Amino acid sequence: MQGALGAWGRILQGYRPCLSIEITGKCPLSCPGCYAYGDDHLGSGGVRLAQLRDFHGQDLIDGVMGLIDEHQPLHVSIIGGEPLVRHRELDEILPMLSARGVHTHVVTSAVRRIPIEWASIKNLSISVSVDGLQPEHDERRKPATYEKIIENIAGHQVTVHCVVTRQQARRPGYLEEFARQWSEMETTRRIWFSLYTPQVGEESPERLLPEDRELVVAELGKLHRKYAKLDFGDRTLSAYAKPPGSPRDCIFARTTECVSADLRSQVTPCQFGGDPACSDCGCMASAALTAVGRYKIAGVLPVDSLFNASLAVGDFFRRRRADVTPQPSTGARLAKESALVTDAADDI
Ligand code: SF4
Ligand code: SF4
Repeated sequence: MQGALGAWGRILQGYRPCLSIEITGKCPLSCPGCYAYGDDHLGSGGVRLAQLRDFHGQDLIDGVMGLIDEHQPLHVSIIGGEPLVRHRELDEILPMLSARGVHTHVVTSAVRRIPIEWASIKNLSISVSVDGLQPEHDERRKPATYEKIIENIAGHQVTVHCVVTRQQARRPGYLEEFARQWSEMETTRRIWFSLYTPQVGEESPERLLPEDRELVVAELGKLHRKYAKLDFGDRTLSAYAKPPGSPRDCIFARTTECVSADLRSQVTPCQFGGDPACSDCGCMASAALTAVGRYKIAGVLPVDSLFNASLAVGDFFRRRRADVTPQPSTGARLAKESALVTDAADDI
């Protein structure tokens, strides 16, 4: 409740409560269906994530903390590329975010060992992407294979995050076997299932057809009652069945600022970038917030009406702030000042 009130306060002041940072454009994996490396991830201007300036060392630490000063988020997601490429910088950044009371979520493939020191950082959660059972996962996400993941998350309590694709949806019992296997592991704090979110017009083997989505939602409805570590409820599932119609209707997109690896470029309309098919959205964060938005206070007033009114108030203050302090962002300054980083800095 305190968190919700804090977020509401930030919205009224014209800030977005959540900040998502693609901390690097580098990644040793090449997963099929990866949205971060899509042609239009950063818009139709032709620039791709891997071509952006990529910071490291003190420049990256200062740049990220500059973004925190600028946006003053309550929640930060560190994504990539692969965030563990920048584990040395994160060794510095994560404790600083914790000391400021910011809740931080690192999203990783666990392709390398997650530093054990991170296990004791307050307000930090780590989610590890596991795309299905071992044969399919290992094929899609090598070198971050099951064997490597299990080795690299030892000593941690992680969120296991599976993005359900059409191939998985059509195999009876597949999701249950996944939920069972990962529920039994001590290192699993909780399990999330998202559904594959395509771009508009995308035809891929991963994209779920309406009948696949129906099957998956029904299956997950049964599984979350059976496996305590599955961390979602019926309201979130009903948002999977009927996602927001557009970014304008998506509370997640409207409350999250997404910044790419040059610490300047914005990823819009949400972390998927490009032109995501909202009507086929399977993002768990979006579904969870959509469920909150559809809740009716006292059975009458939908939360999203209150939210839209609050955003309008916040926009007013944001515009006023922009009129009074027309400064370039820290990221923009750094992008100008800092040298291009070479691949030699990477150690994976
Ligand atoms: S680990 Fe993430 S960023 Fe890297 S290729 Fe896979 S989906 Fe893309
Ligand atoms: S999170 Fe989903 S619903 Fe929201 S803008 Fe992105 S694709 Fe659309």
